[in-house]
Amino acid sequence: ETHKYSGIVEDCCCDYETADHLNKEVLHPSLQELVKTPFFRYFKVKLWCDCPFWPDDGMCRLRDCSVCECPDSEFPESFKKPYHGLPVDDLVCQEGKPEAAVDRTLDNKAFRGWTEIDNPWTNDDETDNAEMTYVNLQLNPERYTGYTGPSARRIWDAVYAENCPKYPSEELCAEERILYKLISGLHSSISVHIASDYLLDETTQTWGPNLSLLSDRVLRYPDRVRNLYFTYLFVLRAVTKAADYLEHAEYDTGNPTEDLKTQSLVRQLLYNPNLQAACPVPFDEAKLWKGQRGPELKQKIQKQFRNISALMDCVGCEKCRLWGKLQVLGLGTALKILFSVDGQQNAVQTLHLQRNEVIALMNLLNRLSESVKFVNEMGSSTEMLTEGQ
Ligand code: FAD
Repeated sequence: ETHKYSGIVEDCCCDYETADHLNKEVLHPSLQELVKTPFFRYFKVKLWCDCPFWPDDGMCRLRDCSVCECPDSEFPESFKKPYHGLPVDDLVCQEGKPEAAVDRTLDNKAFRGWTEIDNPWTNDDETDNAEMTYVNLQLNPERYTGYTGPSARRIWDAVYAENCPKYPSEELCAEERILYKLISGLHSSISVHIASDYLLDETTQTWGPNLSLLSDRVLRYPDRVRNLYFTYLFVLRAVTKAADYLEHAEYDTGNPTEDLKTQSLVRQLLYNPNLQAACPVPFDEAKLWKGQRGPELKQKIQKQFRNISALMDCVGCEKCRLWGKLQVLGLGTALKILFSVDGQQNAVQTLHLQRNEVIALMNLLNRLSESVKFVNEMGSSTEMLTEGQ
């Protein structure tokens, strides 16, 4: 079967067929295993929304701001009961619901050997422990939540309009186009997850794929599909570039059997001979920031990306905010790995990653990998569906 998208993924070093094949045979199965391990399934995050942009909006302070914007069915009654000492209006924005399954005992077990240096590409200060909580990502899958309307729209508009110039545009240099494509690829992936796990029938609580939504939001726009593949390869490149670091990192969660398994899964992923043979350098970052404007441009894009990261605090549905923050941190980590030290050969040797950055990076890659797989598998059946209408 020939791939609908053929040739090299724009700005990458790998073609669509290879990307699909590698994903299906090698990366997707390893990543699915990896994200289930104790090390990778707990994400440390400040879930309280603290939106710096629309202060008079009230969205973040009100009942409607958060989980309550997701369908009621997602959260059993008991979770909505008042917590001790909190004003009623604040309830639903609080962490601590059983879904968010917080295991605070992990903190002293799991933080050895990891840097706490802040990431210049992101807005969150990960050292701000008091406000952070642990979320079990396995219990909070990214899927349809019902978050929609002006609040969601405003975030995406701000992400595109305020932070990255519209593409395609003649004046955009390669670097700015890449930022746009990363965001658009992430947006595609979020839409794919909404479409792949959709609430088809509220009364019977039936969940399943919604192929017309997949087609309407993603497949109908070839650019959105291309950007998804681009983002996938970009993040994959970051992971393989950081291979030495990731291989020797500390995956200690206090359970030696599980931790050994984690380490071996990481190795399996990083040093897979098929990956190295078929697509050793999925994206070539050495081409960027070359010109005279390089350093200035990098600063500008770093600031734009930090703003995008800050916007995630304004996402009005808690679960969407969780995955928005995780994936933007993952992209920020990929940017940090690929561009951490200006043009120096030994950039990777000076690389230091936070534990949370590595968790975000691998979970992001897994999400993108799921999206690429779903788009590849559903692409043709959805075309039939659209033609039949
Ligand atoms: P939207 O997806 O809101 O898109 C808005 C506009 O952006 C489109 O009209 C189009 O012009 C443009 N656009 C769309 N896709 C792309 C693309 N790939 N590249 C470039 N431009 C594009 N909802 C959930 O149900 N579950 C979630 O987990 C979830 N997570 C979210 C996370 C974040 C950070 C945000 C901001 C929103 C999230 N949402 C989630 C909401 C969801 O993304 C949509 O906003 C919502 O479903 C409404 O969709 P829409 O059809 O209006 O288009």
